[in-house]
Amino acid sequence: MSTPKTVLDEKREETLDPESPEAWDALRALGRRMVDDAMESLRTVRERPVWRPLPPSASLSLNPRRPVPQEGEGAEAVYRDFVENVRPYPTGNIHPRFWGWVMGTGTPLGMLAEMLAAGMNCHVAGYEDAAARVEDQVLAWCRELLGFPEGASGLLVSGASMATLVGLSVARSEKAGGDVRRTGLFGQTRMTLYASRETHACVRRAAEVLGLGSDSLRLLPVDADFRVDVGALRAAIARDRAEGLRPFCVVGNAGTVNTGAVDDLEALADVAEQEGLWFHVDGAFGALAALSPRLRPLLRGMERADSLAFDLHKWMHIPFEAGCILVRSEAAHRRAFAYQTEYLAQMPRGLAARPSMFSEYGVQLTRGFRALKVWMSLKAHGAAKFARLIEQNVEQAHALARWVDAEPELQRLAPVSLNVVCFRYVGRGVPEERLDAWNRELLCRLHESGVAVPSYTTLGGRYCLRVCLTNHRTRREDLEFLVHEVLRLGRELAAELEAKSV
Ligand SMILES: *Cc1c(COP(=O)(O)O)cnc(C)c1O
Repeated sequence: MSTPKTVLDEKREETLDPESPEAWDALRALGRRMVDDAMESLRTVRERPVWRPLPPSASLSLNPRRPVPQEGEGAEAVYRDFVENVRPYPTGNIHPRFWGWVMGTGTPLGMLAEMLAAGMNCHVAGYEDAAARVEDQVLAWCRELLGFPEGASGLLVSGASMATLVGLSVARSEKAGGDVRRTGLFGQTRMTLYASRETHACVRRAAEVLGLGSDSLRLLPVDADFRVDVGALRAAIARDRAEGLRPFCVVGNAGTVNTGAVDDLEALADVAEQEGLWFHVDGAFGALAALSPRLRPLLRGMERADSLAFDLHKWMHIPFEAGCILVRSEAAHRRAFAYQTEYLAQMPRGLAARPSMFSEYGVQLTRGFRALKVWMSLKAHGAAKFARLIEQNVEQAHALARWVDAEPELQRLAPVSLNVVCFRYVGRGVPEERLDAWNRELLCRLHESGVAVPSYTTLGGRYCLRVCLTNHRTRREDLEFLVHEVLRLGRELAAELEAKSV
């Protein structure tokens, strides 16, 4: 068959692959160097500051006003740029003395798994391939580790925020009076959901995105341990019912972001059951404590959730991003998301023969192979190792709490239930009204020193430093060093103030 002559016949066709054997060799050599450098950088992370600001040279290189590169400078040059201007200025969460917010530390193996996944570049919408089987297996393991029944469905997502959005979507579909997928919330009675005041803002975000409105989220008071007041929950549901509203969901916390508090999940499950409400648990980091037989009792009741959102990139150290949603009823999960399209219909055989697609369980169609890094990490290290690391962080948090309690110049502001310690510097007779500003300044100096990165929060109107241990690299001496540095900086501030007032 002869084809008509086109412009292509006169032009050499291009590709993004190396275009000669020599070019393949050069890129392979560069790749080896990249892996070596990246490993070395992880091996020596302790020797560098936790955080440092970008110097002017890096800011210049990364200036958004720099023109779009029209002609490529080549892989060698861009790698040099990365080594000089990007890698030295990370968030710092890979460092042993990073305890800010709730992050995860990542692992060398996780890094390699990301690379392998990118190489395969599988499209994990749910085709008949190994990547889908890997995700199936990972989801089955997550179910088992967190005490969910075999029939439960799940999905790997970007993180607990997306997992919450998916879980609450299912709740909304199941508990609305009609078919919200078709009609939206038009003409619906206002649907209300309930969570403690300590609940992460992703629940509010989900309420907003789902069109429920943040006013529909009833934020309930907590007890002295920052756990939801179950009596207040019952009262709020009764009040809303009396007003003709439609209570539909109770959200429980397995580890709050401020203090790591775990709600009485058994009691919340009871309320949800008696009231006919959906029970969703935000277990972003805390749910993973279920891996440890010793810590599991703290989470009693979590296994009764209708949906459970948690992260693998926090307390399991999978490189960002990796979160997971589990839904007790697969049928409900599908009812909320599945639909038929002519271009994704199941084929009798071949690549499109898989009976259900991941895209029928969530928001995304094109999905990356994030399951590979979870699968490789679980297989290589074993769940028991992750459980021990979680216990190690909990023990370290209790040790830090004891050291804080033993220092008269420090004051702890919350009980330690899992891995979060909140405390502030009070010095010797610093007036209460100055403590907030004092501790904020102290924390700025701590970050700028590069020695350690706790974050901060406000508890009962009092600003404090917040140490969240989701870090497999931390050693006890790192926490001793933190106490030492906080005292040193606190005293330094005291001396400066005294000098000023003389
Ligand atoms: C981190 C966190 C979230 C949000 O998870 P992302 O992975 O950041 O989306 C939700 N709830 C709690 C308790 C968290 O710690």
